[in-house]
Amino acid sequence: MNAMMQRLRSSYASGLTRPLAWRIKQLTQLSQLVDDHEQALLTALATDLGKSAAEGWLTELGFLKSDIKHTIKHLPRWNKPKRVSQPLLAAPGRSYLHPEPLGVVLIIGAWNYPIQLLLSPLVAALAAGNCAVVKPSELAPATAAELARLLPDYLDSAAVQVVTGGADVAQQLLAERFDHIMYTGGGRVGKIVMKAAAEYLTPVTLELGGKSPAVVLADADLAVTARRIAWGKWINAGQTCIAPDYVLVDERVHDAFIEQLRSAISEFYGMDAENATDYGRIVNVQHCQRLIDYLADGTIAIGGRADKALRYIEPTVLTNVSADSKLMQDEIFGPLLPIIKVPHLAAAIEFINSREKPLALYGFSKSARSLQQLTEQTHAGNQCNNDTLMFMLNPELPFGGVGPSGMGRYHGKFGFDTFSHHKAVMVRPFWSDPSFRYPPYTSFKQKLLRWFS
Ligand code: NAD
Repeated sequence: MNAMMQRLRSSYASGLTRPLAWRIKQLTQLSQLVDDHEQALLTALATDLGKSAAEGWLTELGFLKSDIKHTIKHLPRWNKPKRVSQPLLAAPGRSYLHPEPLGVVLIIGAWNYPIQLLLSPLVAALAAGNCAVVKPSELAPATAAELARLLPDYLDSAAVQVVTGGADVAQQLLAERFDHIMYTGGGRVGKIVMKAAAEYLTPVTLELGGKSPAVVLADADLAVTARRIAWGKWINAGQTCIAPDYVLVDERVHDAFIEQLRSAISEFYGMDAENATDYGRIVNVQHCQRLIDYLADGTIAIGGRADKALRYIEPTVLTNVSADSKLMQDEIFGPLLPIIKVPHLAAAIEFINSREKPLALYGFSKSARSLQQLTEQTHAGNQCNNDTLMFMLNPELPFGGVGPSGMGRYHGKFGFDTFSHHKAVMVRPFWSDPSFRYPPYTSFKQKLLRWFS
């Protein structure tokens, strides 16, 4: 590890990663990797998570390719120094922000979207001109092995290194000095990462999780709402950090909403999701057991069947759930959807605000006023009204949590900014050097200084 770090540091110091042409070449190569090995990558995703080819493309490979395309297109502009105004007292002169890379960065990925969550931060890090160490999650081993095999063939290994392994390897990496660390995963490890980073005062971006609520008001189009919630919930078998974790539904439409969810589930996955092409599997047996244990925390309204050996849990909807149950305390991160009745929007807002700030929040209503109220009176990393997950497709929107759901942001220019330092630069000419700013400060000079300030 020591030798690897030394090599990366000297590559960075040599200026290898500075030219835009080098950065764009790396990004192009990454896109080429996806084109050349699409099938192998989709197969790895299917092995790890039972991810269908369509889902794997939509949420991982296609996402990554459009991220790269957007970055290559806008990088020359993002990388240009940005001129700002000059105060009178410092005139003549000019001021600007000069983006510079941070150095050698560490990116630690999670297992649920094992390609996107590792390589999309890498796109941002390379675009900004950094060297990087990427560590895929050991819980998606087939994908980690593919990435470790393929990345060195496509990216400049003097600047990018892949390190595979589990918590012990992550800890070894964290003992090294980096210029930035981006970690995606749960909050428990997030604290370990932040503590390790504190040793060198290394800045961190933590992409964490939490319980993301969906609020369904009585005036929502229930059929469309149910389809959109079902899609966001059961994609990747519920193992999505921004999946709706639970639904707060107006009690007047509670039963009708559940019926619409039932139709959406059978439309998407047929009568038996176990045989559906587009329904995934739980990452491992331990997570499967954790989810099966939650089934006792409510009344099963839809689904409920599980087969631990096959890592399968049916799309499941639970009602009569207590707010104090484990199901409603832990992040579910699986295909179980608790539905809780609320009398009105204000009660939903109170419920949300009594808990930690979520990563995502979803509101469903035809009333712009109600949606505005939900937006203004709650906290969340990201909010999407009348849909789920779709905000991820807009590279003009930053992605990141707030409070316990994370710190920092990326996607598009926000990722470039995360992996850059925007150095503040002021340049002054020699030709003008009035003496009123220099001591001794006579009363006339003081008057002038006050006037100019
Ligand atoms: P995980 O088990 O894959 O762990 C994430 C990474 O942390 C892995 O690379 C792992 O090797 C490393 N790690 C594990 N233990 C460690 C330790 N003791 N020290 C150092 N590193 C260690 O993923 P997870 O934590 O199970 O992921 C699920 C959580 O991640 C959920 O809370 C989910 O909401 C969140 N998540 C967030 C995002 C996001 O973008 N905000 C995306 C996906 C998942």
